[in-house]
Amino acid sequence: MPPKVKSVTKSSKSVTTKPSVSSSPHPQDTPIQFVKGVGPRLGMVFDSRGISTVRDLLFFFPRAYEDRSKLQQVADLQENVKATLAVRVSSSRKIPIRGKFGRSILEVRCADEAGNGLSLKWFNMPKGIDQKFQPGIQIIVSGSIKKYQGRMEMVHPEITWNVSSSTQVPEEAESHNYGRIVPIYTEIEGIASRILRKVLWETLERYVGALSEDIPLSLLQKHQLPQLSEAVKQIHFPSESLGQDLLDFKTIYHQRLIYEEFFKFEYLVLRQRLRMERALAPRLGHEGGLKAADQLEKLLPFQLTGGQKNAIQEILEDLQQAHPMNRLIQGDVGSGKTAVAFLTAACALAEGGQAALMAPTEILAEQHYKSAIRLFGGKLNVGLLTGRTSNADRTALLGKLAAGMPILLIGTHALLEPPVVFKNLVYNLIDEQHRFGVDQRRTLRNKGMSKDTATGKTILPHTLILTATPIPRTLALTAYGDLSVSSITELPPGRIPIITKLVRDKTQTSDAYARIREQLNLGYQAYFIYPLVNDSEAEGFTELKSAVSEAERLAMSVFPEFKLGLLHGQMKSDEKESVMEAFKRRETQILVSTTVVEVGVDIPNATIMVVEHAERFGLSQLHQLRGRVGRGAVQSYCYLFSATRGAETTAQRLEVLEQTQDGFQIAEADLEIRGPGEFLGTRQAGALPFRLANLIRDREWLIKARDDAASILKNDPDLRQENQTSLRRYFEREGQIQSDRLKTS
Ligand code: ADP
Ligand code: MG
Repeated sequence: MPPKVKSVTKSSKSVTTKPSVSSSPHPQDTPIQFVKGVGPRLGMVFDSRGISTVRDLLFFFPRAYEDRSKLQQVADLQENVKATLAVRVSSSRKIPIRGKFGRSILEVRCADEAGNGLSLKWFNMPKGIDQKFQPGIQIIVSGSIKKYQGRMEMVHPEITWNVSSSTQVPEEAESHNYGRIVPIYTEIEGIASRILRKVLWETLERYVGALSEDIPLSLLQKHQLPQLSEAVKQIHFPSESLGQDLLDFKTIYHQRLIYEEFFKFEYLVLRQRLRMERALAPRLGHEGGLKAADQLEKLLPFQLTGGQKNAIQEILEDLQQAHPMNRLIQGDVGSGKTAVAFLTAACALAEGGQAALMAPTEILAEQHYKSAIRLFGGKLNVGLLTGRTSNADRTALLGKLAAGMPILLIGTHALLEPPVVFKNLVYNLIDEQHRFGVDQRRTLRNKGMSKDTATGKTILPHTLILTATPIPRTLALTAYGDLSVSSITELPPGRIPIITKLVRDKTQTSDAYARIREQLNLGYQAYFIYPLVNDSEAEGFTELKSAVSEAERLAMSVFPEFKLGLLHGQMKSDEKESVMEAFKRRETQILVSTTVVEVGVDIPNATIMVVEHAERFGLSQLHQLRGRVGRGAVQSYCYLFSATRGAETTAQRLEVLEQTQDGFQIAEADLEIRGPGEFLGTRQAGALPFRLANLIRDREWLIKARDDAASILKNDPDLRQENQTSLRRYFEREGQIQSDRLKTS
C-alpha cells in the first residue's frame, strides 16, 4: 500500500527578493548582528564561526536537504526514516533518570488527526521547553522515527510552533521550516537549526539582491549558468522538488557557485604562474654545466633509464631559460629521482652557483649525502646540514656558503633557518615535497631571491620538486597549477614486481610468518611497520599494536632466532642512526619501526615489508612504504595486516594494492577515498578555498574554469576590459591583485 501523504498546496514557494535597503555603501558587508533576528549575542556566535557579514552568511551553504513538502501520518511512519508531521499535544511528563539526581527525561505524548499516538522525547531538555507543550496545541514535528516498547517516537525532534489552524499550509513566518524542501546546515553550536533557517530566510529576502556579481555575464551565458542572487536563493531554499541532482549538488545553481569557486581559484593560480614565468632567473646549463652533468653520469654504476634521461633533459632545458623553473618530477618509489637531482645540481655548481636539496627527515638527508659521496667521490661538492650537525661543522658550512663556494647543501628543514644564508643560491631541490608546506617552499625560494639592478625585476632561483606520490590530474590542476610536471613512468630494469598480500585472519597470519621466516633464513631482511610508538599513545584504540610492544612480542615469541632493531620518531637522532646502520650492515634482520622509514630509505637486501593495521594508512602511503622493498634483483613481498572485522570497505580498499603497482592508479583510488589531504598534506589541502566545489565530483567544472581563466589571462591578464570590471573589483577588494600589473611587466 502506498503511504498516504497529504499534499501541501503551496509546496514550491521561493523566497521573494526585495530591493535592499541599507545606508552602508556595500549592503553585503553589513555586520551580521544588524540582520533582523540576530543581534549582538547571536552575532558573536556567528562571528566565532567566521561568519561576520551578510555575505558570509549567505555563503554558508546547506550541507544537505530534507523533503518536508508533504506531511505524513503516524500510520505511514517507518523506523529509522525521517518524517515530518502535524500532531496535537495530549500530555507531557518528566521521567526522573535513576541514579542521576535532578535529571529527567521529558516525554510529550501527541496524536495525529487520525488519533494515532507519537511520543517525543528529550534527554537533555532545552530550558523551558516543557512549559510550551500545553495540551491541545498543534505543532509540526520533524525527526527520525524510532520504535520503543511498541510505540512510535522521535528523540530530540525539531518543532515548529506557530502552526495555523488549517495545519497544512504553513504560516508565512514558518514557511522556511516545513511545507517545502528544507536546507540542513552544519550545526553551529548555540544556534538551533530552526533559528538558523529563519535568519537565512530573512537575510535572503532582504539582501540577496545586493550580493556583488563577480563573474562576467559572458561566462555565465557561455555555460548557461544563472546569476548569483538566483543561485544563492535556490541553494538555500530550492523551489524544485527533491531530485537526485539536488541531493548530489548538481543543480545549475550549485554548479554556478562551484564554477565560480574554481574560476576564481584558477585565475589566481595561473596568474601566479605567469608572474613566476616573467620573473628572472640565472641562466644555467651552458656548456660547462652540461659537461659536468655528463661527467657525473659516467660515474654512475648503472645506465639511466629513458624516463630519467627525459626528466634530466627537460630540467636542463628549463635551467637554460632566463626565467625560473618550477618543475615537479613525479616518479614512483625506486624510479631513481635522486640521480636526476644530483646530475642537474652538478650543472648549477659547475657554473658557479649554489644549490640546496631539502629532505623531510634526517635519515633521508644523510642517505642522500652519503650516496652522493659514494657515487661521485669528490666530484660533486656536497655538504650536510641537519639538526644534529655539530657547531663547528655548521660554522664551516655557513662560511662556505657566505664565501660563495659552489656547493650542493643537503639537509632537513634546518636549511630554512635564518642564519643559513647563501651567497648565490640558484637551484632548489625539494624531496618528498608533500611533507612540506607551501610556506616552507617559499622560505627556501626567498633565500635565493634578489633584484636585477638594471631592470629592477625580481630574480628567483630555479626549483625542482621531487615526489613519489603521483599527483592525480585534478590536483595537478589546482594545488600544483603553478608547476610544470615531468613524470618518470618506468622503473630501472631488472626490478621484479613485489608480491602483495592482505593478511586478515589467523591462518593467513601463520602462512605469512612462515614465508617471512623462509626469507630471513635465506639471509634477507624484513621491515615491520606500526602506526604508533607506545601503547599509551593509543588512547581509544586499545587494540592497536604499537612498535615497542610488538618488537618485544616478535623477538620473544615469533622470531626468537633472529635479531631485531627498533626505530621510531621519538628516539634521539644518533640512536636512530645506529639502528639504521646496524640494519644496513645486516647485524639485525628485522627492523620494527613506525613510519619514519617511510620515505627514501634504500636497502636492497630488505625484501619483506609487513605493515600492521594497514587500514590506518592511506593507499599512497602504503604504496610508498612498500617501495622500501623490491629494490634489489630478487623477489620481494609485502604483507598488509588488517584484521578489522566486518570492515569490508576497508579490505576492498586495500585490494587495490594487491592488484597493481601503478602509483598513478593507486593515487586516483586514494583521492576518491580519502580526499586531497593525502597528497597535499592536510595543511595544504585545508588551504584549498572551496566551500561547495569538490575536486572529484566536480572535475568537469574544474576543467572549464581553468580553460576560461587561462584564456582571460591570455587576452586581458589585468582585467582591464569593461566586461571584466566586476571581476577585477572582486580581486582588488580581496587584496589578491593590486598594483602588480602583469601586462606592463
Ligand atoms: P626514488 O625515486 O624513490 O627516490 P632512488 O633515487 O632512491 O629512488 O633510487 C632507488 C635505487 O635505484 C637507488 O639504489 C638508486 O641507486 C637505484 N637506481 C637509480 N637509477 C637507477 C638506474 N637507472 N638503474 C639501476 N638502478 C638505479
Ligand atoms: Mg627518493
